[in-house]
Amino acid sequence: MIAIIGGGISGLSAAWFAQKRGLEYVLLEASERWGGKLQTEKIDGFVVEGGADSFLATKPWAAQLARELGLGERLLGTNDKLRTIYVLHNGQPVALPEGMQLIVPTKLWPFLKSPLLSLSGKLRMGLDWLIPPRTDSTDETIGSFVRRRFGQEALERLGEPLLSGIYSGESERQSLLATFPRYRELETEFGSLIRGTLAQKAKQAQANPNGKRPAMFQSFPSGTQELVDALVGQLTGEKRLNTSVMSLISLPSGSYQLALSDGTLLTTPQIIITTPASVAAKLIQPLAPRVAEQLELIRAVSTGTLSLGFRSADIQRPLNGFGMVIPLREKRPINALTISSIKFPSRAPDGHALVRVFFGGSRTPETLEKTDAEILAMAKEQLLDILGITAEPLFHRIFRWHNANPQYDAGHLDRIDVLEKSLPPGLHLTGCAYRGVGIPDCIHQAEETVERLSPP
Ligand SMILES: Cc1cc2nc3c(=O)[nH]c(=O)nc-3n(C[C@H](O)[C@H](O)[C@H](O)COP(=O)(O)OP(=O)(O)OC[C@H]3O[C@@H](n4cnc5c(N)ncnc54)[C@H](O)[C@@H]3O)c2cc1C
Repeated sequence: MIAIIGGGISGLSAAWFAQKRGLEYVLLEASERWGGKLQTEKIDGFVVEGGADSFLATKPWAAQLARELGLGERLLGTNDKLRTIYVLHNGQPVALPEGMQLIVPTKLWPFLKSPLLSLSGKLRMGLDWLIPPRTDSTDETIGSFVRRRFGQEALERLGEPLLSGIYSGESERQSLLATFPRYRELETEFGSLIRGTLAQKAKQAQANPNGKRPAMFQSFPSGTQELVDALVGQLTGEKRLNTSVMSLISLPSGSYQLALSDGTLLTTPQIIITTPASVAAKLIQPLAPRVAEQLELIRAVSTGTLSLGFRSADIQRPLNGFGMVIPLREKRPINALTISSIKFPSRAPDGHALVRVFFGGSRTPETLEKTDAEILAMAKEQLLDILGITAEPLFHRIFRWHNANPQYDAGHLDRIDVLEKSLPPGLHLTGCAYRGVGIPDCIHQAEETVERLSPP
């Protein structure tokens, strides 16, 4: 039997893949609900996501799992007619110029016309065509990489909000290889990010001549919770909520004994730990102190989301896009906002809009400690300024995620390699702290972990 610790998407999918392999398992979750950072609530016809709201369609593992669970027909693509992303620039939302592939411009004229960068900033980005690629394969920070290829201005106005914002992280610490390895590959292969991205685009156009792009992100009509509910409904093994694993010891037989919060003990030869790295460190400390030390080095930051429902008419300056990122240099108390009802129109009833505000992270961790009323007041001030919303929201809902966003600092993948090699036999680690934070990455890692288990 395998003990799987943690019932977020990593633990649930590990249980699913174990079940598919015919392995017996027990899934142990400390809280009173399944799903971890996937949590959807329905409020007066609005579909409100507390944590993740969708998954990247280019990474196939989440959609594959959904199909296995019979949810193929329920997959819902984003409303890509309005896939524009805005960047707050000197207090004003400015659309990313047409042709931008995240931070890489692929259309000259829209890029040159955009007010997002100064003329010298644009010329500096153009030098990417000429700057020789880095020849050593070691990791570096996002800050160092973007500055090297595109210059400081592009880092502050594009790289920092778009590449580090996703991780609620800091560009001067964030690992390039653990978070955007494709950029290093493009640099190495084509000598330039712009050249490489254009070549990729041409290849995609050839493969897809009718030009219809697949949806950028996917979810389900009732939110990411559908995936959690389908998993829970189809997992036939033992599943226990409100059951925290308090400690682990190894037995002379080579098995492990888990002490559970209900006072019972569980003996098993194989354990998959999917908890946050700090919890994994505490559990592993008595068994492998060196591994625990490495796990403790994986930092995590706390973030929060605030969803607000409005009548569409109350938004005086609506954004015609998925949302907006806010560079650190704008010195705002919020990090980004999503217009959830544009990203997926069915998130709000007709004539209504759902806006989600992100706060906390490495920039403003103190916001998590504020009261709900203070957070609401802060967000309303920002929404008035940015979108011209004067009306009271029809409802609001705040979610706080403490120590929930693992930070992949430069050198992260090397640390994970060492850590995985040093694990005692029968102990396995998987989840968002290791090889990808996105839902598809968590599912993929869980599948690979289960494949590595010894047969029954
Ligand atoms: C605000 C926010 C927005 C996000 N948006 C997106 C997005 O749009 N798309 C995307 O792909 N990803 C997104 N992510 C990332 C993604 O949601 C997470 O990386 C992923 O859900 C992590 O899943 P997990 O199972 O690895 O960890 P978790 O969901 O953290 O699950 C771990 C579980 O372990 C349990 N646990 C802890 N200690 C114990 C113990 N001692 N015993 C038993 N159980 C224990 C916890 O209660 C928890 O349920 C977002 C994350 C956040 C915080």
